[in-house]
Amino acid sequence: MSRYDVIVLGAGPGGSAAAVTAARAGLRVALIDKHRFPRNKLCGGGFTGRSMRYFREIFGAEHPDAPMLNRSSVTFCAFGEELGRYSEVPPLYMTMRRTLDHALMQAALDAGAEDVTGATVTDIAPATATVTLSDRTLSADVLIAADGVSSPTARALYGQPFDKRRIGFALEVEHPSDHPARTELRIDFGAAEWGYGWDFPKTCGRTIGVGGVLSRNPDMKANLRRYLAQLGLPDDQPIKGQFLPFGNFRRVPGRGPTLLAGDAAGLVDPITGEGIAFALKSGQEAAQAAIDALAQGQPSTALPRYRNALKPIHAAITQSRLIRPLLFLPTFRHGFIRGFRESSALRQDYLRLLAGETEYSEITRRTIIRLPRHILRAISAKLRADQSPAPPVP
Ligand SMILES: Cc1cc2nc3c(=O)[nH]c(=O)nc-3n(C[C@H](O)[C@H](O)[C@H](O)COP(=O)(O)OP(=O)(O)OC[C@H]3O[C@@H](n4cnc5c(N)ncnc54)[C@H](O)[C@@H]3O)c2cc1C
Repeated sequence: MSRYDVIVLGAGPGGSAAAVTAARAGLRVALIDKHRFPRNKLCGGGFTGRSMRYFREIFGAEHPDAPMLNRSSVTFCAFGEELGRYSEVPPLYMTMRRTLDHALMQAALDAGAEDVTGATVTDIAPATATVTLSDRTLSADVLIAADGVSSPTARALYGQPFDKRRIGFALEVEHPSDHPARTELRIDFGAAEWGYGWDFPKTCGRTIGVGGVLSRNPDMKANLRRYLAQLGLPDDQPIKGQFLPFGNFRRVPGRGPTLLAGDAAGLVDPITGEGIAFALKSGQEAAQAAIDALAQGQPSTALPRYRNALKPIHAAITQSRLIRPLLFLPTFRHGFIRGFRESSALRQDYLRLLAGETEYSEITRRTIIRLPRHILRAISAKLRADQSPAPPVP
């Protein structure tokens, strides 16, 4: 049996952030992943200002060592109709997870974490922070499980990794592009129910996807095909799909010596679908909780410390979930889309949200102030739709 201070399971952004933090503090860390890196990970690869801030804080470098396109304008569309091209957006970085995650994982190894990637995990015992591989067993004082949305650790703890009624789901295709540097970044409201569509330029092509709450999108493939047709693109690339924990977070992120981070803890923004930033931050906080608990000689205090540190993220996700119906509920969404077109303040809020440049407490406060106007817009949009002989926007 190999003994560590901390085992980190999963070498995505959450796991690498945890491993680099714990290793730099001098702890003995094993970083386990079933894949050898570089590996593909289904994702839009939108790296927001928030992700960049956390990256700098955690990894202590200016940029991840991975190709990125920088965009500061976005084209918004709703139900196939263009709402406008807005250039007042805080910068958004577009990257491929294959190279991004490889760079983060390498930084964790450089900091001293032991490379246990490409490993077959045959058993996880959360109660004893023990992970069994095909050829050996590892145990630690603290296990940080950042093993993704289908987390085998969450399954071992709770019987299932997420709640099927509330989970999100997304489909993507990678499209080659002759001039990726010139491709616009585009967001489409209405491409999926309780979600949206995206066309993200990359240095090597375009990532096009649709995602939303699974239970409200029984045929997500049809959504994607419709969306590709709207973009004038052939439906000839392999389609890949993955669950997205859309605000379905675990209030107690773990049990005993096991802490869940990132998607495994359900830490994805339920409006934008952004998950990299919270994965980075929660990985760092989980490691910091382990560092502090071990320094006190009380490993069992890691979980309460971590839970406390996650409060701001939990509060942000809760507030985002409260605001979400105003954007996605059919009664309100026409009003939101009209407001988005007409009100530069509302648009600024959304753009800053998308770029990870604002906090939900601020947005919630302004939403409450705007609520009466929002409701009036929804009523007038409904009245106009009822009186118009032409079919309204769906
Ligand atoms: C289609 C789609 C588009 C998205 N677009 C964006 C976006 O543009 N911007 C954004 O911020 N977020 C986006 N997200 C969300 C983002 O991808 C996740 O929130 C983020 O990857 C979470 O990071 P993580 O480290 O928690 O988990 P992951 O990145 O999923 O990493 C988990 C790791 O655990 C490993 N693992 C899993 N099981 C085992 C096992 N049994 N044994 C060993 N290792 C294991 C995996 O190999 C993987 O490396 C998107 C998600 C989807 C599905």
